[in-house]
Parts: sequence; structure tokens; C-alpha cells
Amino acid sequence: MRFPLALSAKIAGHIIKHKLRKTLRFAMVLQLEPLHTCNLTCTGCGRIREYSTSLKDMVPLEKCLAAARECEAPMVSICGGEPLIYPKIEELIAGLREQNRIVYVCTNGVFMRKKMKDYLAAVYSPEIEPKIKKLLHEKLISDKDAETIRKSDGAARQKTVIGPSKWMYWNVHVDGLEFTHDLIVEREGVFKECVEAIKMAKILGYQVATNTTVYKETDVKEIEGMFKFFSWLGVDGHTISPGYDYDAAKKDMVKRLGKDPKDFFLTRDMTRKKFAKILDWGKAFTIFGTPVYQEFLAGHRELTCTAWAIPTYNVRGWKAPCYLMTDTVNTEGHYAGYQEMLDKVKWEKYGVVNGKARDPRCEHCMVHCGYDPSGALGTNYQAGDNWKNFAYNFGPRPARYDRGYEINAFNGFSIGKGHLAEAKAVVNPAAGAHGAFSRKETTPEQRIGAFCGGENGESPERDALLAKIKDAKKIEAPTEQILKPK
Ligand code: SF4
Ligand code: SF4
Repeated sequence: MRFPLALSAKIAGHIIKHKLRKTLRFAMVLQLEPLHTCNLTCTGCGRIREYSTSLKDMVPLEKCLAAARECEAPMVSICGGEPLIYPKIEELIAGLREQNRIVYVCTNGVFMRKKMKDYLAAVYSPEIEPKIKKLLHEKLISDKDAETIRKSDGAARQKTVIGPSKWMYWNVHVDGLEFTHDLIVEREGVFKECVEAIKMAKILGYQVATNTTVYKETDVKEIEGMFKFFSWLGVDGHTISPGYDYDAAKKDMVKRLGKDPKDFFLTRDMTRKKFAKILDWGKAFTIFGTPVYQEFLAGHRELTCTAWAIPTYNVRGWKAPCYLMTDTVNTEGHYAGYQEMLDKVKWEKYGVVNGKARDPRCEHCMVHCGYDPSGALGTNYQAGDNWKNFAYNFGPRPARYDRGYEINAFNGFSIGKGHLAEAKAVVNPAAGAHGAFSRKETTPEQRIGAFCGGENGESPERDALLAKIKDAKKIEAPTEQILKPK
């Protein structure tokens, strides 16, 4: 089957239960953000910008679990920030599993291998030696790691850990192949780490999904190559969604990177062009989401936003009206309870209906957290939709792509603007990073000038860039510091 039977049946049962009860609005997926601290600063991420004043705050474990109980969503997507930084992440996953929820851990992949080593140390016995040997052979753990795992003591064995389960997915953020992904996350080496973490997870029997946002500059062929590559690695599913210029991301783009958001985010027409082949991708790869949502993305039909079905809970409460937008003009922004949010938000003010935006900020939004549930819940129902969704979710799983080794996945470190490597390369092109700027400039000042768009090294951004290079060491903070948010 395309997705595990128990999971598809659980979600279908949840929808049927509420349809029979005639519940007007209910939650399908809880986007749970226990913290907004992150070890990366991805271009286009509104989270770390919108919540920049509360990056050190965390939702206590009990409140996270209570939020899941309150909205009763069968699936919980733990996101953030980087959820693996949350000090009680293991207990959170275990608590959600005790509530019988399907758990997605949305991660940038950087700390995944550490968490899986903790798991190995907790469950080590001679029976798992073949797996340890395979991980060593593939260079996914070091000899020292293997020794630590083998010698794990009482404390390591008593730790709550994140073990493989058919009810849990690692949901790894990858926005393209190496060059593109490292450009978007603004740090080189992250794509490679994601690939190694995914390989390790598959050896250990975890379920793994990838989570991709498509931007204006994203090359569709590259996305197809990415699906092929990760299918070959045994990845179990892919979420893909168009990038949307919500306020916080837009402001960051202008202020920090000096970019015009129009150059980065997709309009509706652009989204439809980029996603023209999504129905074919859905046949070839295990794309999450209903075929009805895929038809919407491809421009074959309209849907109405159902943002209430994928609510977001974070340090400030239930975020309204949606994952992307916090509307303090028409709503209170954040609410203390899910039901309170359902009751108080004027949902009819949001979304796009038959191509007409009810709120101008929604005009270009086609994101999965607003519209994917619409496809499952039968808004804008057309004859045959239920059967289409059923056949897709309960149908056969697409075959693994078997020539992934032909994909040029490691196509170079990227050095886009805002990216530390670019700044370094500007000053020292001999360092080996690929350059996106002309090599005719000879002095660092000229190169910086070219990079910043000015002439002869004169640019208002020059000083900021030099300061950035000087602060490089600070930006590359050691893992221990990152792991201990204050
Ligand atoms: S990893 Fe996720 S939370 Fe962190 S900056 Fe990137 S997109 Fe934002
Ligand atoms: S269309 Fe829906 S999900 Fe998109 S910004 Fe508007 S309210 Fe949010």
C-alpha cells in the first residue's frame, strides 16, 4: 500500500466520525511548535523571524500534550524551530504515542544521527551488531560512536529515546539537491548531513519523509531529481508545498537579504506552472496529500481554505488564522484554547473562493496547511472525489526508483546571498567554494563590491558583509551551546 494501512485507516476513521457527527470544524493535523529556537537561519523561514523575541521560550511538556488532547487531531507534526533542540523531545514523542497519535518530527536533519545513536545505546544487544557493522561500513557512525553504543551504561539504557515505529516519521526538510538546499538553509554541509541521517534511519527501520517548499527559483527538473534520489534511498513519503510570501518571511527578505520577495515567492499562476506535473509525481512517488489537493496545485480546480483543520499551537497559544499568518487586526492573534479559536475567528474572511481572495494576504496562498485538508474533507466536492482519495491512499505504493545513483545530488556547495560560504568565497575564492559572481574581479574589495551589487567595492552592504565574515565563528556556534537553550 502507498501508506501504512493502520495510518490511512486511522485518518479515514477520524474524518468519517466527524462527518457522521456533522462537526462543522475539526482538527486533522496539529502543528505543534514546542519552541522556535533553531540552529539554522533558512531564507524564507518566517518562524525564527516572527518569534524572534521569544526564541528562548518553550512550551512545557504537559502543555504540549494537553494541546494534542484538546484538539484531538490524529496526527501531530512537531515542528518549530528545530524540535530536536527541545529538551523533552523524547518524552513528547512518547507522550503523543501514548495518546495513539501519528507523529511527524519535522527536522532540519542536523541532530537526527545523534538521536538515533542515543536510541542504539539504549537498546544495544549483540543482536543489533549487524546493524552497527552496516552503519560503520557506510561511515554513518564512527568507531568511537560504535564503542560508546556497545559500552552503554545504565543511564544511557534508561533514557527515553526516539525508536523506530510505524506511527512515527522523521520528516526531513530538503528544499532541493545539495547546491539549492544549502543555499536556502544558508549553510553548507546540511544537505549531506540530511542524506546521511536518512540513510542511517532507513538502516535502523525508521519511517522517513521529506518536506520540500518550492520557490520561484526552484527548478522543477531538480525537484524530480530530488524525488528520484530520495526514493532510491528508501524514503517513505514526500510533502511538497509552494513557498508563500507571508509577512514575517517577506520582511526578512527585504531587511536582511536586501531581496525583493517577488523574486523569491510564487504567485498562484507561477505555482500552477511549477506544479503542472504533480499528478504524474503522485503516480511515480509517495507524495503525501490527496489527489484533490494535487489537482488544485496543478490548476485543474479551485479549493477553499480550511486552515482550522491544521491548527498551530506554540509558546503564545493557538495561532490564528493559520500556520502562516498571525492576524492581530481581525483576530486576537493567539488564543488560549482551540475551541475558543474555532468559535471566535471569522473564518469566512480568509482564503480564496473561486479565484477571488477574501483577504488580499491570501491571494497567492496555495500551501498544504491551508488547502490539503480541503481536498480530504470534501469542500468544493466534485463527483468521484472520495473514491479518488480512497484509491490514492489505499492503492499500491509506487516502486522504488532504482537508478538514484545517476542523480547528481551532491552538485556543489551553494553560496547564495545571505549564505556564509558566499561571504567567505568572496574574500577568498581559492577556498574552493563555487562562485556565483564574476571571477574578473581581483581584489577582495572588488569581489565584495561585485557581490553586493556595487562598483569598485562600494556598496552600502559592504560593511555588513565584512562584519558577517568576522562573526563567522560566532555564527557557527558549537553544538553544545545550541543544544542548551536558556
Ligand atoms: S530549519 Fe526550519 S525552523 Fe529552522 S530556520 Fe530552517 S525553516 Fe526555519
Ligand atoms: S489562504 Fe488560508 S492558509 Fe493561506 S494565508 Fe489565507 S488563511 Fe492562511
